[in-house]
Amino acid sequence: MIVVGLLGLGNVGPALLDTVATSVREAFTADIVRLKEGPDPRYAWDDHRGQHNSEIILRRLLAEAPPDVDRVLGVTSVDLFIPMLSFVFGQAQLNGKAAVVSSARLDPTFHGFPVNPALTAARLSREAVHELGHTLGLTHCIVRACPMSLATTIAQLDAKGPELCEGCRSVLKEKINRGLLFLSES
Ligand SMILES: [Zn+2]
Ligand SMILES: [Zn+2]
Repeated sequence: MIVVGLLGLGNVGPALLDTVATSVREAFTADIVRLKEGPDPRYAWDDHRGQHNSEIILRRLLAEAPPDVDRVLGVTSVDLFIPMLSFVFGQAQLNGKAAVVSSARLDPTFHGFPVNPALTAARLSREAVHELGHTLGLTHCIVRACPMSLATTIAQLDAKGPELCEGCRSVLKEKINRGLLFLSES
């Protein structure tokens, strides 16, 4: 079973982390280890952009990941960017160890809608599964309802369901069978 270390970075609500943990556990049949909360990621703040650089956060997650987890997932409420895009909901490296997701733009209040913690949590869960899927070698999927489909808008994100499609599941299963994914596998 894949072991995912999960941690909040800065001020992230425990209910939000619980929902993400449950979704990731169910999508990947993963074992979730709750890691000690990381600092508010102000070390990644970019004055020019007025946002946080997700690549810097990823690097730090990677450097500080405990050796006994297969993957590490950081959850933050700050708005993220990478240099070539105006924003990202999250980021991960294909076949990498670390992923980061942000609730900033997934919160309906960001877009002028009423507060809705359940909706924010559902969106963040889809995004967490998507980014972790990349770390497990999954690429973008053409099935709209699959968490691995590309979402650059909230509408695309809201079209996703919680579960990986059959195609993605079988790709993942094959990788697992070939022993490609785990550092801590017995
Ligand atoms: Zn992606
Ligand atoms: Zn898929």
